[in-house]
Amino acid sequence: MLQKRLELFFLSLILVAVSILGVNYYRSYSFKHNPLPNEYLQRIHNKEQDVLEHMQRNFGFRIEFPIIITDKIPGRLYGLTSYENGRITILLNKKVMQESMDYMIESVIPHEYAHALLFYLHKNSNEKSGHSELWKETCQKLGGQDCRQYVDQQEIILSKMPFKVQ
Ligand SMILES: [Zn+2]
Repeated sequence: MLQKRLELFFLSLILVAVSILGVNYYRSYSFKHNPLPNEYLQRIHNKEQDVLEHMQRNFGFRIEFPIIITDKIPGRLYGLTSYENGRITILLNKKVMQESMDYMIESVIPHEYAHALLFYLHKNSNEKSGHSELWKETCQKLGGQDCRQYVDQQEIILSKMPFKVQ
């Protein structure tokens, strides 16, 4: 009798585990294969407005840079800023958004916006000087909560993008 109960217990445990796995799998599959859900787009938009208000307050003007959300960024990089023929573009990595959306909002958007702004002001002409003191200060002035460089990651691109964005 006890053995039967135990068997039943473990069987239900396995069923629960399998369904949790299934739901998680479905969620990440559907996130990956569908356009970014509206609530994510809304959060990105709101943060961008917040960054622009900081810019207005601390620099006296506001300039908006195009933000492209893409799953073509290689590896686990959160974001990139590219400067190509005078065009400045911010790219955000869709692949890490589902698990790291808060970080994306609070840190990555101001981080990349600071790179973009320094490109715009012609104060950044060198991939190595991307995370200078000036950049850090700019990132903080744009409301960044975590203005540190990403460890060992090159996310400023001054030449042709090494991958197709869309
Ligand atoms: Zn950076």
